[in-house]
Amino acid sequence: MIWALALHGGAGAIAAHLYRQEEEHMRGVLERGVAMLARGESALDVVTEMAAELEACGLHVAGKGAAPNAEGSVELDASIMDGQTRAAGAVAALSGFVSPVRVARGVMEKTAHVLIAGAGAARFAEINCFERVEDPSLYYTPAKSGLPGPGTPGSGTIGAVARDMAGRLAAATSTGGLHGKLPGRVGDTPIIGAGCWADQRAAVSCTGLGEYFMRVNAAADVCARIAYAGQSLAEAAGAVIEDVRGLGGYGGLIAVDAAGNVATPFASQGMKRAWATSAGVREVKSFG
Ligand code: ASP
Repeated sequence: MIWALALHGGAGAIAAHLYRQEEEHMRGVLERGVAMLARGESALDVVTEMAAELEACGLHVAGKGAAPNAEGSVELDASIMDGQTRAAGAVAALSGFVSPVRVARGVMEKTAHVLIAGAGAARFAEINCFERVEDPSLYYTPAKSGLPGPGTPGSGTIGAVARDMAGRLAAATSTGGLHGKLPGRVGDTPIIGAGCWADQRAAVSCTGLGEYFMRVNAAADVCARIAYAGQSLAEAAGAVIEDVRGLGGYGGLIAVDAAGNVATPFASQGMKRAWATSAGVREVKSFG
């Protein structure tokens, strides 16, 4: 029975920091995901739970750990995609809710839309009783990250991709975006095809300078390369990250394919990440 799972905590990791706490936490999240997959739970439920845990921990620039925009408020982006049905949901520039990825799943399951932004997304979350952030000044604890400016809370999206025992693939991505971004700025994270994608071939979650990931349609391009160019998952994922690097961007991605292979390429100093497979693989790394 094959399954595979990969997580990331962002490509903003810099060599000047040690990420022991982040790695320890991610190891625990990974083990909970492994248990869910080994019990036969769906890839979609696993990536939802993994992403929600990473949002809630405050250790990455997503959910609780998100950094404020240029005007001091927190606007979050998230997305989710089910590879079997190609159903997808996303929220952009959402304020006031604990788990943007759960709201994104709500958009996928309760509306005829894929992406809802700003006040409309908050209204949707409110009507559907998603958990609110009562006091943003107490709740948010901007996570340390390195990029884009050393020593400042920078970028640090989280993501999860999974292949379940029934062969279904799913991906989820959630972010606070870039520290000091312009109000209303939306990156790749909630853009289906750029920061998140899943089909029957592979599931992909991206992190890094979102403007570049949008310009190369990064997540969907991994699957397109597999479909049209016959590339392996590792080749396709690596080529997409080289495309980002070639344009002058930085970042990385995590991906799993239908055979249970995992790829985690990045073009940045580091990328907090973890992966596990039914073949007994368990890895948690921030660099190298
Ligand atoms: N991709 C995210 C964005 O541009 C940031 C990140 O991955 O760290 O909003």
